[in-house]
Amino acid sequence: MNDVSVVLSGTGGVWRVRDPDGVVHDASMRGKLKDGEQLKLSVGDHVRLERGDSARIAEILPRHSALARRSPGNPHAKRVVAANVDQVVVVFAAVKPEPNVRMLDRFLVVAESNDIAARIVVNKLDLDARAPAMFADYERIGYPVHYTSVKQRIGLDALGAALAGRVSALTGPSGVGKSSLMNAIYPGLDLRVGAISESVNKGRHTTVGALMHPLPDGGYVVDTPGLREVGIWGVDAASLARCFPEIRAVEGECRFRDCRHISEPGCAVRAAVERGAMSGERYESYVRLLGELEGRGE
Ligand code: GDP
Ligand code: ZN
Repeated sequence: MNDVSVVLSGTGGVWRVRDPDGVVHDASMRGKLKDGEQLKLSVGDHVRLERGDSARIAEILPRHSALARRSPGNPHAKRVVAANVDQVVVVFAAVKPEPNVRMLDRFLVVAESNDIAARIVVNKLDLDARAPAMFADYERIGYPVHYTSVKQRIGLDALGAALAGRVSALTGPSGVGKSSLMNAIYPGLDLRVGAISESVNKGRHTTVGALMHPLPDGGYVVDTPGLREVGIWGVDAASLARCFPEIRAVEGECRFRDCRHISEPGCAVRAAVERGAMSGERYESYVRLLGELEGRGE
């Protein structure tokens, strides 16, 4: 019997929890669980609800993944932004606004460092049909790329199929069409990605609270306003390379095991860039992120 409920939102004492029938309850934590456990509960967690006069969370079930960020109060503690996320879906526009590949690569590193699959959406294809050429490097690496237009209803079914039954953390700059895409795929849902979270969080200290939106055909879209701030914490300089699948694929051939792929002789990564097997733009993102991580002195 499936009696697993899902935490949709919550910041502190009261959590909005969706039971297996789709009914949403305001639930508090059962007394016995309170210390410690309370701090660990996150949006996306699977829980068992106890139903009496009011709903109470009786048990938190093990997670299969977590999008984590550094805790604001304690740089050494991590705070989970969303649990049980199956995929990070990064949305950009072909133009208006112009895609920022540094930001895209940063999002992909966040996904890779959390061992979560990533998918790219390039929206507003109607405004610039050259987008597929621009994102060919990402397809070559193996990331699924969806080319969509809300205006011309291109690629919406395929994107809907990729979201169905999965928990997807939707992210990307504002204005790229995240809300428009969700509303075109799920008419009537009136899903304002970003906007909802901003109003929910207004005036509160917790500005990073994620929100889970149940989808009609199963699965959830997680609105994670704090994903940009999730940053690349948890990645040490030595493991950054592993967050780039195309570097991961060749770094075993570098002459030195601890090669940073910057200026070391016999570097297979730089050789791959030179012969055009790895994108120079992606390599540039690696170099910049490495500088950021090393500069921070952690
Ligand atoms: P969000 O901030 O990412 O949620 O972006 P919105 O969904 O609010 O969309 C921002 C603007 O882009 C709105 O004016 C939309 O009408 C427009 N827009 C969204 N999708 C498309 C598209 O596929 N083509 C064009 N031309 N405009 C779009
Ligand atoms: Zn190397």
